[in-house]
Amino acid sequence: MQHDRGFNTGLLHTGEAHGFGQREILPPISQVTAFEYESMEELERVFAHKSMGYAYTRIGNPTVAAFEQKINALEGGIGAIATSSGMAAISSTLLALCESGDEIIAGTGLYGGTLDLLRDLEKLGIHTVFADVINKENIDRLVTDRTKAVFAEVISNPSLNVLDIHEASEAAHNAGIPLIVDSTTATPYLVRPFSFGADIVIHSTSKYINGGGNAIGGIIVDGGKFSWDFNKHSALSGHRKYGKMAFLLRLRTDLWENLGGCMAPVNAYLSFTGVDTLGLRMERICENADALAHALSGEDDISVNYLTLEDHPYHSFVDTQFKGYGGGILSFRAGSKERAFRIINSLKYARIASNIGDIRTLVIHPMSTLYIHTDAPETEAAGVYEDTVRVSVGIEDKEDLINDFRKAVRESRQ
Ligand code: PLP
Repeated sequence: MQHDRGFNTGLLHTGEAHGFGQREILPPISQVTAFEYESMEELERVFAHKSMGYAYTRIGNPTVAAFEQKINALEGGIGAIATSSGMAAISSTLLALCESGDEIIAGTGLYGGTLDLLRDLEKLGIHTVFADVINKENIDRLVTDRTKAVFAEVISNPSLNVLDIHEASEAAHNAGIPLIVDSTTATPYLVRPFSFGADIVIHSTSKYINGGGNAIGGIIVDGGKFSWDFNKHSALSGHRKYGKMAFLLRLRTDLWENLGGCMAPVNAYLSFTGVDTLGLRMERICENADALAHALSGEDDISVNYLTLEDHPYHSFVDTQFKGYGGGILSFRAGSKERAFRIINSLKYARIASNIGDIRTLVIHPMSTLYIHTDAPETEAAGVYEDTVRVSVGIEDKEDLINDFRKAVRESRQ
């Protein structure tokens, strides 16, 4: 150590980390709060967006940027913004587009957290009108001058209602409104919503994108095709000079930055490595879910809900929108809450946990957990009943899963 400076000064100015760039095969975890510059002039240029560079991880970070670019490429957008959670992605998106007095059209069968958020937004003067099905008829009927967005889940969780993305986007566009889709349960493996006309795609990356159940996160991807009318979408008017990029820049340089819901670099790294196996995982998960759903539908005192079952009301979308796959979630009704609990408690391979999209099979009773804050009519509209069991199917060997569930169902008959 140099002797012309004190211990603490020496400690802090020895071994600074410069110049990684060793041709790493994955983006290294840039687990820092801030980035250092040679001169104040350089940092000024970065803050003024006149030179590329990172300043502070809440605003930008190379590991997070690598993850954003990967998901953006996967979805085919013009840019993506990673967030601290799926809920942060949804709340940032809606707050970027809506002002007090504005309205959102949304599906009734949404994830419970999203329904809670829409209720929170009411307190800010942003009103949601709900429709059982987000289709042309309902969009035409519910749209007003104040409607700023149509929001729907591509495959609702756990009701498994399917959004006809093409029909909904055409109806929304005729009214000058963007279609925002939460594609968490569908994943980019089953569908790329921009190719069917959606404008903004959101994922809770905590689920299938991460896959390993080890990082909460979310992402907003902008398709870049929507022509914003800045008189109508006045929340974006400060960013009109960016044209089709206005929504993304409103978030990036303004609302998302100020709300502070950034993704942690380590979560970006875990999600980056996780998404590499999305295709393999989804293929196996969908195959297992299809086999389990068909096996359980052979049990005559439970009713099974899964898209590839021949009598499912949205069965046709499996081929027209989802490349032949039915996704990783199935649910069944056990006849009573008590029996649902008995089945859940006796499963050997399915873990009792509040998540979906893990490589491990997870099971939950949604009414007493995810919908505990939701009113009875809303819960029912979300396809959640007292006897509903939700299964997020994993990648275990399908014979083991089938035997485990069959045994639990049969032994629960009293
Ligand atoms: N969207 C859907 C469809 C979900 O299932 C969830 C969580 O279960 C979310 C959004 C919220 O995501 P997160 O838990 O990452 O905030």
